Amino acid sequence: MVEASGVHKRFGRTEVLRGVDLTVQPGEVCCVIGPSGSGKSTLLRCINHLERIDAGRMRVAGELIGYRESGGKLHELRESEIARKRQDIGMVFQRFNLFPHRTALENVIEAPVTVRRVPKAQARRRAVELLDRVGLADRRDAYPAQLSGGQQQRVAIARALAMHPRLMLFDEPTSALDPELVGEVLDVMRGLAADGMTMVVVTHEMGFAREVGDALVFMDEGRIVEAGAPRTVLADPQHERTRAFLSKVL
Ligand code: ADP
Ligand code: MG
Repeated sequence: MVEASGVHKRFGRTEVLRGVDLTVQPGEVCCVIGPSGSGKSTLLRCINHLERIDAGRMRVAGELIGYRESGGKLHELRESEIARKRQDIGMVFQRFNLFPHRTALENVIEAPVTVRRVPKAQARRRAVELLDRVGLADRRDAYPAQLSGGQQQRVAIARALAMHPRLMLFDEPTSALDPELVGEVLDVMRGLAADGMTMVVVTHEMGFAREVGDALVFMDEGRIVEAGAPRTVLADPQHERTRAFLSKVL
């Protein structure tokens, strides 16, 4: 579902990704950890076409990111084509970014109706189902300010799912939450994983990574330093930098 090879990304003179290779199979949950500034968010943004990569190749669901192949040549995609590809990928951020003047239900309906032109009644039915799935059936008419952080994040997940994504990206989805609200969001993500959703999750919730992750990737200074089965990486890290990082977060 995701295939990155030799991906480089720089901002000005700062090389933020320095040759990242990553493969995520359909149905897999890949957890990404690493110190602040190591390039985790940038990697997700590259997967989601929010950043153009400077070198290397990135494929999502077999399709090159940012380019179209024809007659053995690569053509840069136009913004409108990139936007269309981005619709297949759901992204959930640390900050929930819900529309403040729309109810939970309206937030979930918004993109399918305006972007995909789904008839409103149909989008509404699906939104009701999705809010039920994230445990918010009874809060569908609440505005974001009336919801807890955990509830808002669950609305954000439902909103991403409303576009029928093939891939879900999570960028520290529980980092902004009070500790007692983390579990309800992780439970929803656990359910998604159990239903077979392909997910790349930047998180420092090691329990989640161990139980739900199929792979754990440790990034440092723009590179993947170590990757493997979560239990193996956590119990027996091979690199000094991984050990040093884990000793701080475990
Ligand atoms: P992480 O998510 O692991 O904390 P980021 O991917 O957010 O790391 O950032 C990696 C590095 O790239 C940081 O040094 C950050 O300052 C820099 N960076 C990220 N986005 C930009 C940008 N748009 N312009 C310039 N520098 C950026
Ligand atoms: Mg980040």
